[in-house]
Amino acid sequence: MTFQTLRDIMVDFQLVPRGLHDKRVLDAMKKIPRQLFVDESLWDRAYDDMALPVGEGQTISQPYMVAVMTELLALSGNEKVLEIGTGSGYQAAVLAELSREVYSIERIGALSEKAGETLRNLGYINIHLRVGDGTLGWPEAAPFDRILITAGAPDMPEPLIGQLSDGGIIIAPVGDRFSQQLIRITKEEGHLKSEYHTPCMFVPLIGEYGWKEE
Ligand code: SAM
Repeated sequence: MTFQTLRDIMVDFQLVPRGLHDKRVLDAMKKIPRQLFVDESLWDRAYDDMALPVGEGQTISQPYMVAVMTELLALSGNEKVLEIGTGSGYQAAVLAELSREVYSIERIGALSEKAGETLRNLGYINIHLRVGDGTLGWPEAAPFDRILITAGAPDMPEPLIGQLSDGGIIIAPVGDRFSQQLIRITKEEGHLKSEYHTPCMFVPLIGEYGWKEE
């Protein structure tokens, strides 16, 4: 089976039957070669319905979670997006297909470096990477139309709310260290509106406005 067939099966059997319907998101996930974001020894599992290890104790998220979070961001193509937790770079690639510019922060240098290499090889020129504590955001590039946190947070980090533009959306898995719920906050004329979505399980967001390192 080709990787294209595996991608089509992933979308048609893991995403569509669970209610995902944004054609732009589904098309992006049919296009991006997810196997290139994991070690070659895992290529035969790259399209499985699960998160996979990417080294340094971190993971590339389950395709379903990537699709849910991306669909909730409601991207039309012209947004400036901030992602916290670059990891493998796969989610950044999905965002880059669907928005104008992506800024992505990763706290582990080796992961950011590897992700940068993969994304460059695939020809993405609208993704900016930085190593650091993403809970502090990227003040020089703010405000952002969308912010996506791809690690489990104890609370929505305050600095990120401050860097969200009016009309913007921020999404994060919020809860305890081992289980969270996806929360979507929309900023409208300075007011915040929260909605609660899918239960989930992410590796911890570690930083000044996240969990403390153990
Ligand atoms: N989005 C990634 C992908 O597509 O592969 C998956 C992200 S993985 C579930 C969570 C990532 O968040 C890890 O790589 C972890 O090192 C990173 N992380 C945790 N705390 C962070 C912080 N404060 N700032 C930036 N990255 C952080």
